[in-house]
Amino acid sequence: MEKGIELARGKTKILSELSGQPEVAVVTQLDVISAGNGVRRDTLPGKARLAALTTSRVFRLLNLCGLPTHYVRGGEDDDANEMLVRRCTMIPVEVVVRGVAAGSLVKRRPGIAPGMLLVPRLVEFFLKDDAANDPLIDADMLVAQHLASADEVNAMVEIARLAFEILAHAWRRRDVLLVDVKFEFGRIASGEGKGSLVIADVIDNDSWRIWPGGREDLMLDKQFYRNLPSVTPEGLAAVLERYEQVAEHVGSFPVMRGAMVAAMCDVLAPEQAVENLARAVGQFGIPITRHLTSLTRVPGQLLALVQQLEVSFGRVQFVGIGDQALADVLHFASAMPTAHLSSSATPQECEALALSIAKNFGIDDTVLYGRTLLAQGNGRASVLAADASANAPERQARLSIPAV
Ligand code: 5GP
Repeated sequence: MEKGIELARGKTKILSELSGQPEVAVVTQLDVISAGNGVRRDTLPGKARLAALTTSRVFRLLNLCGLPTHYVRGGEDDDANEMLVRRCTMIPVEVVVRGVAAGSLVKRRPGIAPGMLLVPRLVEFFLKDDAANDPLIDADMLVAQHLASADEVNAMVEIARLAFEILAHAWRRRDVLLVDVKFEFGRIASGEGKGSLVIADVIDNDSWRIWPGGREDLMLDKQFYRNLPSVTPEGLAAVLERYEQVAEHVGSFPVMRGAMVAAMCDVLAPEQAVENLARAVGQFGIPITRHLTSLTRVPGQLLALVQQLEVSFGRVQFVGIGDQALADVLHFASAMPTAHLSSSATPQECEALALSIAKNFGIDDTVLYGRTLLAQGNGRASVLAADASANAPERQARLSIPAV
């Protein structure tokens, strides 16, 4: 990428302009590893490539799930350790989400046992201030000091929690426990979406704690480097080996597994039901294949179709559209999940069915798991927004009893 002037330099990366494109910037990772606010710092050849791969795949996963991030593209092997991002005004805080007690939390709170599961997840803010060693800061103080608005603080907590659950799911599928992770947020500086909040900076193997099989002694993240009693060439080689393993795992994070909804429609059922279902599952990015059938006129065709679809797709969800009897036959004929949709189903009923289909696929598919979490979050937000507008002063005035 044709870089312009340097905009900022961190301990392990550089942010530069992209010539002639003011809305984007280039993040270049460096072959550097550091800890303890830069007190320990080493060159680690190969780390930049692994960090670029890791952060870009993590961002791609979060983007695919529908979370807002600054990532645009890049970070692959032939991208010179560079990724393209939207330019942001950064909010100077680190947002740490913890699912398991470790690190500074257990030092600060001796009453919390290391390794304790944290439910609900704990979200903490740390002010980015090297001189003061990034102190913990209250959400209210962020607002009082005009570092973020109250709405932004709430959004950071919500988005960080969702991102944590998505990453925890991806790691769980690889039998690795995500202990905690640090995010940073920015506001899009210009152009489309100006002012909106996005996850920014990088999310790589320096940003989290990850324990294979839930075992701290097998840790794969930067804590291994922090814990080295002294830095030796062998120690650094062991660090790099862990970063390589992590980049390899994360490489497959943004992959959606093949999934298909097979709509088996009674030939007499109106087309509207299948259209509504197609739209609802389409919101999750799940493809649908439609087949017309009749239990009474062509029962053999229905069974043959079921067999054919089962062998064609590894993961298929059948939906019988029409009489309950059609769904009952599917239920007993197929080893795959089946559901019934009445031919008079409303769009809301189709959306509810699509959500439960996405949930089933999401058990072993992080992209669909993330999209499910997001759909549920948006559902909650729309109810709260409707409630807020129902209680808005002008509406209250309209609802109040007129004076006589
Ligand atoms: P703790 O507060 O326990 O030291 O860290 C919590 C989590 O945030 C850990 O996963 C840690 O790796 C991450 N973290 C904390 N501070 C930083 C930082 O300055 N840079 C990066 N990359 N990660 C951090």
